[in-house]
This record gives sequence, structure tokens and C-alpha cells, in this order.
Amino acid sequence: MFIKSVRKVATLIDRKTSLGIISLLLIASVSLVTIPVLKSHASLSSASIEVIGFHWTKFPIKILVDMNQWSISDYAFAVREAVNVWQMSIWTYCSSFNDTTLAILNFAFYVSDVNATTDYDVFITFTADEISTDVVGLTSYQWNPVSHEAQLPVTINLTTYSRTASHLFVKNIVMHEFGHALGLGHASTQDTQNGPELMYYSTSAERTNYPSTLDLYALCMVYRGNFKQSVQLPANIPYEIVQPKTDVLSDPPPDSTHLVSDDLSASILKAFFDAIQQVWHTDQTYLVVLVISIFVLIIVRVIDRKK
Ligand SMILES: [Zn+2]
Repeated sequence: MFIKSVRKVATLIDRKTSLGIISLLLIASVSLVTIPVLKSHASLSSASIEVIGFHWTKFPIKILVDMNQWSISDYAFAVREAVNVWQMSIWTYCSSFNDTTLAILNFAFYVSDVNATTDYDVFITFTADEISTDVVGLTSYQWNPVSHEAQLPVTINLTTYSRTASHLFVKNIVMHEFGHALGLGHASTQDTQNGPELMYYSTSAERTNYPSTLDLYALCMVYRGNFKQSVQLPANIPYEIVQPKTDVLSDPPPDSTHLVSDDLSASILKAFFDAIQQVWHTDQTYLVVLVISIFVLIIVRVIDRKK
């Protein structure tokens, strides 16, 4: 509703004036509320999502995390993970539905106390308390109503409850708010066929969330320059969450004969890649490092024996 009236105002202003108005920016904001809400009665087939009216045209989108007094280093990792999930879900969607529109999206990550920059597009900062009652995250943005380009910076505020918020809590709020920062509004339904809708205005934030096919399809529309306000999925795309597939991230496993000597069979290689994939899904990076170390040791021993 709020966005609708903003758009109407934009159209009016645009008609009344000419060139000077191009610099006029609209300001709007959306929020994430975590209070439990009743399930939406809208059926899955009628699920829709609003788009805000802007998109990014320069990449990478530079994200700066502001390590202020209400942040701890773990929150910077949570933000990084959220951005990575978006990136991986985007690639998974591109590959699953043969749509390369979003392949242009990529991100650069900055942390204020490590590699601070003044040249950022999205600013993520933390507050001690809720932004207003039950509002734990807020994205503020401006855009040019003529070109639909986002104006810098888009700012994401989120509460850490005086640094007591959990990693998952911060990650999930950033996941949702980052959807707004990319140009998405809110979805009409709380659940997809296989998990919660990330862009519903309220979420319990107790499990890892992922963008849905509806979110990513709507983003495709936006990055093709179609700003029709409400987007629905076409019949050929199921309404589901898009969990990242690791095999869209890396090159295919190399031919084993190029890597190792003959007596180290392809089955060991396969087991290695399976193990990597499995620990990746458990989200524990140290396990990945452990498996890689063991693998390197095996290689070294095999090479030693050959000598
Ligand atoms: Zn929201």
C-alpha cells in the first residue's frame, strides 16, 4: 500500500515537471517483523510478490558491514553467509531454469574494521534495540523513478539486542532485508511447497532460509527492466525454496588421470568429492578443511611411494 502511493506520487511528479525532476528520488522503507502471525490463506498457485521499482546496474554490488558497538565479528560472518546464500541460490536458479538474467549479479564484501571503503552500495549496520516495536530489520532505499536505478547507499539496519542475537537470527534478517536491497518487496504467502517464503513480511527466524523460485523469478523480471508491480510464477516453475547446489559453484571434478597416479583410483576421488559435498551441506567449514588435509596427505604418500 505504502509503495503503491509512493509510485503514484512518482508518476504525478514526473508528469508535472521535466528534466530537473530526473534527479528527484523517492524514499521508501520496508521492514521485517518477527512476531508470530496467522498463516496466509492465499493458495500456493496464487502466490505473488511485489517488486519495489529499482534495480542495480553496476556490479559488483559493494556491501559494507559497519562493525559498530552493537556488532561482534560473528555477525560479519553471518552477513557474509547470507550474501553467499543469495549468490548461490541465484546461480542454482539460473542453472535449473536456464535463465541467465541474474548471472550479472555479483557482490563484493567489505567490513569496516578490516577493509573499509567509502565506495559502497549497501551499508549494513546494527542497532541495540528493535527499530520499532517488533521490527528487527529495516531496509531504506531511494531510486530514480525515471531510470529505475538504485541510489546510493541502500541501508540495512538490524537489531542485535545489544549483541545477544544469535548468528542464525542475524543471518536470516540479512537474508530477508537483502532481498529488499536487490529490489524485491513482500510476498503474499508465508510458505512455499517445501519451506518458508523468505520474502514474507514475517518469519520465525529459527531455521536457515533460502530465496524462493518466486523471489528469483521476480528478480529476473526486475533485472530485465520489467517493473510490473506484482509478479506471479508461470505454470512451468514450481513454487519452492531454492537451496544452493554446490555443483553450480565450481568446475566439474577434474579427470582423475590428470591429478593422480594410476593406482589412486577414481573411486577415491569420487569419495572425496562426495565427502566435500556432504560436509558442505552441514555448513561446517572446518570439516571441509579437515577432509582436504586428509586428501592432500594421501596424495603425498602416493607420490612418495612412486619415488
Ligand atoms: Zn520486509
